[in-house]
Amino acid sequence: MAARPIGIDLGTTYCCAAQVRDGKPQVISSRLGYTTLPSIVHYDNSGQVTVGHAAERRMVLDPTRSVYGSKRLLGRTFQSEVRERYQPHFSYELVPDENGMVAAKVCGTTVSLTDVSALILRELRSAVQTSLGEVVDRAVITVPAYFNESQRNCVREAGRRAGLEVLRIINEPTAAALSYGCGRGENKHVLVFDLGGGTFDLSLIKIEGDLFEVLAVGGDTFLGGIDFDRKLVDLVMQKLGKGNHLRLDAVGKERMRGACQEAKHTLSTQPRATVELPNFTLADGTKLEVAVPITRNEFEDACKQLVEKCMYAVSDVLMDAGKTPAELDDILLVGGSTRIPCVNAALKAMFGRDPSKRVHPDEVVALGAAIAADSHDRIDSVVLTDVVPTAIGLGGNAGRFMPVVARNTKLPHKVVANTVIAAGTRELKLALYQGESPHAKDNDYLGALVLDDLPGSAEPLRCALLFTLDSECILKVYASIPQLNLKRAVTLITRYTPDDVVEQMGAERIRVGPVQLATGLRGETAPKAAVAAAAKAAKQAELQDDDEQDDGKPGFFGWLLGLFGRKG
Ligand code: ADP
Ligand code: MG
Repeated sequence: MAARPIGIDLGTTYCCAAQVRDGKPQVISSRLGYTTLPSIVHYDNSGQVTVGHAAERRMVLDPTRSVYGSKRLLGRTFQSEVRERYQPHFSYELVPDENGMVAAKVCGTTVSLTDVSALILRELRSAVQTSLGEVVDRAVITVPAYFNESQRNCVREAGRRAGLEVLRIINEPTAAALSYGCGRGENKHVLVFDLGGGTFDLSLIKIEGDLFEVLAVGGDTFLGGIDFDRKLVDLVMQKLGKGNHLRLDAVGKERMRGACQEAKHTLSTQPRATVELPNFTLADGTKLEVAVPITRNEFEDACKQLVEKCMYAVSDVLMDAGKTPAELDDILLVGGSTRIPCVNAALKAMFGRDPSKRVHPDEVVALGAAIAADSHDRIDSVVLTDVVPTAIGLGGNAGRFMPVVARNTKLPHKVVANTVIAAGTRELKLALYQGESPHAKDNDYLGALVLDDLPGSAEPLRCALLFTLDSECILKVYASIPQLNLKRAVTLITRYTPDDVVEQMGAERIRVGPVQLATGLRGETAPKAAVAAAAKAAKQAELQDDDEQDDGKPGFFGWLLGLFGRKG
């Protein structure tokens, strides 16, 4: 018998694994009794690598060689705004790898963040195997709903490198809803509110028996416990400095952050806490005995804006799904930061009731992943319908973002974008972005879609690009140029920066066809209208003929011929 698959919550801060045993999902604890594993990898000069709890202990004294929080930058290009934003917050050095993706530089070597995730998954897998006493080689892994295409691919690859067949990637909030509602035969609308260490993920999910349909997703990829820590650090530094500017080195910063995080945890249950750092050293060598008292009120005042940001995102998701607070049956809290009392209070104020106590915020995602893993092999399995978390599109004229797939479009999905290739072009390059801003540069740059080996014909060429997204939001793009009788998959190359693309192609040459109608940007056009426009474009292209979703190939030639009126 094949080993039973497990579910893995690959968190920014902690990972957790679970498995369905005797018909019930259960968290797998390590032999030492831990139910979670810190997502930290430490490298030392002799080439030794430590992962998890041991790495966490080393991080305090050796922060520059400890890779933590890497999930926030996984699958991002070095050129991305995200990396620029994050560089100052990481003690380890960030560099581009040979493909232009963000990597960590530790002990003189460049380590890819996919490898960092693979090491974490390998450690988790080995702890699970020891604890279960059996081989584990298949898993469902969860990712934030907000994860873009390239980030999901990295998680798949990391799983492979850790010796796991990744049965499926599912969204963390969807997993939470699964563990909340699976097998209960209920009909409910629930809001999953996941405030973790680095990210804030929201999903509004309709549960109908064993059918889980995501109606809308939202949140903020840059909001989490780390930001609350930072507010507390600022507060403590203010109290300590009393007007003087205190400078900390890497070890000082990490010790300060750790102590503030501890105090933050205390403030979740106590009205006051003390940030204590005996024998603390400033960057200039001055020694301090740090013992700064903080009240919960002071902390909550400092974090007011963060909580407001959360609540605005909740309103956005409700609006996108067309629901009012009263129409929701339950609120599921996920993630360690939902223990912060003012977060709870804000939710209670908005919804007029307490969030659900049915699920455990630290374990719920892994438990849901275990259910999805267990149901993978069965016929009576649960059905998950997810949505595209943020618009996907191309860079257009004057730095504009041209969405091709609107946010909250139901998966799987197909759509055609038409573009004109200027005469003489030998290589078509289009910049691919994901995000909600009308300005391309403010969105996540995913890479360049490259169609090379073109003959450089004397005429401009009409080119149809078919975008297919499978049920896990994995994107594939195919191109067709009828004048050349060319039909081919388009490769995504991350090595090229957006500037390379513009420089080599000339932005004025990029014109996107019918889906130009589908702006679907927040605040401009309602996403529903955008979805309708995209659907209309797809219909024009006779995509309906093409029912196969997996590789996007079957039926592909049929619709292309239809598109250019040469069908049959
Ligand atoms: P992730 O899913 O991003 O790995 P988690 O859901 O494990 O994150 O949450 C980790 C975050 O939760 C950290 O920022 C941690 O400080 C915070 N956290 C954990 N326990 C508490 C608590 N009791 N009070 C406040 N925050 C907490
Ligand atoms: Mg999490």
